[in-house]
Amino acid sequence: MESIQNLINTMEQVGEEQCKECGRVYKLYKTPVGVAGGCKPCEDKKFKAKLNLPTVEDYRESKERNFILSFERVSTDLQKATVKSYKPVTDSQKEAKQAAIDFITQFDGKHSLALSGTPGLGKSHLAYAICKAIRKQGYKTLFIKSTDLLEKIRGTYSGNGLAEEDIFNMIYNLDLLALDDIGSEYVKKDEQGHESWASDVLYKVMDLRLEKSTICTTNYTESELEAKYGKNGVRITDRMMDMAKGIRLIGDSYRKKERF
Ligand SMILES: [Zn+2]
Repeated sequence: MESIQNLINTMEQVGEEQCKECGRVYKLYKTPVGVAGGCKPCEDKKFKAKLNLPTVEDYRESKERNFILSFERVSTDLQKATVKSYKPVTDSQKEAKQAAIDFITQFDGKHSLALSGTPGLGKSHLAYAICKAIRKQGYKTLFIKSTDLLEKIRGTYSGNGLAEEDIFNMIYNLDLLALDDIGSEYVKKDEQGHESWASDVLYKVMDLRLEKSTICTTNYTESELEAKYGKNGVRITDRMMDMAKGIRLIGDSYRKKERF
C-alpha cells in the first residue's frame, strides 16, 4: 500500500474534473497509463453495488420476515396446498375457489375474505394457498390458527421471550393476515357465560386489521360467532366483514372419509 501511496504522491496533478454523478470535484493525475482520476465516494458506491452486499434495510426486512414466519405452523397436508390443487365439488366451493383467484390477482392490501362452513370443505386449504401466493408476490403474509395466535399472546404474560407489543405490531404491519379457525378457541367464561379474554384479544386483532386485508375461516355462522363472543360478538364479525367477501361453504367433507 505504501508504494502505491508514494506513487500517487509523486504523480503530477494535471487538472480537476467534476463528478457527473454527485458534482464533487476531484483531481486528475498524470499516470504511467495516462491521465486518470476519479470520484472516490462514487467509485466506492459502484464497487459496493457490484458486490451486491445486503443493506441495513435488507437486513431489517429479512429479520421481520423471519419473525413473521416463526409464527407459522402449517400441517403437512396443508403445506402443498395451492389454489390450483383445490378441487371444488359444490357451487359454494366453486365460488370460494373463484374468490380465491380474484383475491390473488386483484390483491390491494385492503379487501378481505371470510370463509365459513363445516370442517373438511377446504377453507384452510384456500386461506393458506392465498397466503402463499400473495407472499410469492413479495408481500408480508401470515397464516395462523386463531388458537395458536392467542396462545402466543398469552405466552407473553408468562415470559415466552416475546413482547405482546411485538406481536401486535407484527399483526398490524402484515399485508395479509389469514386467521384460521376462528371460534375454535376455548377460554374460561365470564359471569355472563361469555369467553371474555379470547374475545377481547380477538377484537383487538381484528381492530388492528381494519382496512387491511384479512382472511378469516370459521366453522361457525355469523350469529353463532356473535353469541360466542358476547359483548365483542358483533364488533368482531363487523370487523371480519369490513370490505370483505363472505362465502359459506356447503358440501360433503372431502378430507374425512368415514371409517365406521
Ligand atoms: Zn461523485
